[in-house]
Amino acid sequence: MTKQNVVVAETKSGLAITVSVSNSSSLFSTVGHQIKPPVVTTPTAGGYIAISPNKQLLKKLETGGMNAWVESMRASSPTHIKSIPTSLSSSIQDYTSWMHHHPSALNMFEQITSASKGKQIVMFLDYDGTLSPIVEDPDRAFMSEGMRRVVKNVARYFPTAIVTGRCRDKVYSFVRLTELYYAGSHGMDIKGPSKSSKNKKVYKALVERTKSIPGAKVENNKFCVSVHFRCVDEKSWSPLADQVKSVLKEYPKLTLTQGRKVLEIRPTIKWDKGKALEFLLESLGFANRNNVLPLYIGDDRTDEDAFKVLRKRRQGFGILVSKTPKETSASYSLQEPSEVMDFLHRLVEWKKVSLQSQSRV
Ligand SMILES: [Mg+2]
Repeated sequence: MTKQNVVVAETKSGLAITVSVSNSSSLFSTVGHQIKPPVVTTPTAGGYIAISPNKQLLKKLETGGMNAWVESMRASSPTHIKSIPTSLSSSIQDYTSWMHHHPSALNMFEQITSASKGKQIVMFLDYDGTLSPIVEDPDRAFMSEGMRRVVKNVARYFPTAIVTGRCRDKVYSFVRLTELYYAGSHGMDIKGPSKSSKNKKVYKALVERTKSIPGAKVENNKFCVSVHFRCVDEKSWSPLADQVKSVLKEYPKLTLTQGRKVLEIRPTIKWDKGKALEFLLESLGFANRNNVLPLYIGDDRTDEDAFKVLRKRRQGFGILVSKTPKETSASYSLQEPSEVMDFLHRLVEWKKVSLQSQSRV
């Protein structure tokens, strides 16, 4: 038997994304913003347990950090262990040690729900590899109907956001649930189900300044204000740009990006999924850390930014979706999207029961 320790860099899927926000034909000069493509590791087919090379884990094992379960397994079945090839045996040890540090969120379900006592769970979900399987063609990364149903139910009980490297419209076309928040392009592009008062001042100022320009339409989204100019005559684009610029001067913390016939005014933040998580929590009214328990489920290297934020804030739990040991700041793990579905389903059922028991009191 050969050692199954091959790591495949997934370069064809939509996860290996470079998001570039720069537009030479922009009405305004915008700063180019590039996000490094995340690398996703996948196990080789047919392997018993595929292990990615992890020096830290190996070092831990060398220095005696062996999991007690493996020790007792050895003690109780010496002949059996002896018969396992060294490579496979060390793979099991690696995996067991990793699972000891990042136990299954399904096995830790009671601990997670009891940590949410008196707090609002806010659910953050990556899309590819978390809600949908990783597929060759990123345009075909569909989620199952079962997964859609359970995510819809989760959103009934908990504020729920999809945080993805994909563009927001693309991921929305897969998920098609209006009750969720969507943070696309690693959070650079956020849209929520309802409007907030946060942007009201900017919105009012833009409405006021652009009302003399026929066709200009200002829209107050939850996290950004959009000025649509698809119905504005081209000769008025320059005066419109001047008006928008004059509003921006009053709000130096805001930045402007340009989409197709739309100008979007949003906070200046160096975006990653961690910043998106913080921004979403604050915007949803959960700036107070004592009343919220964020749960973030993701499988990407880019999700580590969000896991790190939760660790730093000592708040909530990161859950890594992975079949193989990986260096991660997540607290818990789930093996694959089907386990994510089980976890979300259990969360909904738990919430239903706890609401019923509350109403009986
Ligand atoms: Mg992913």
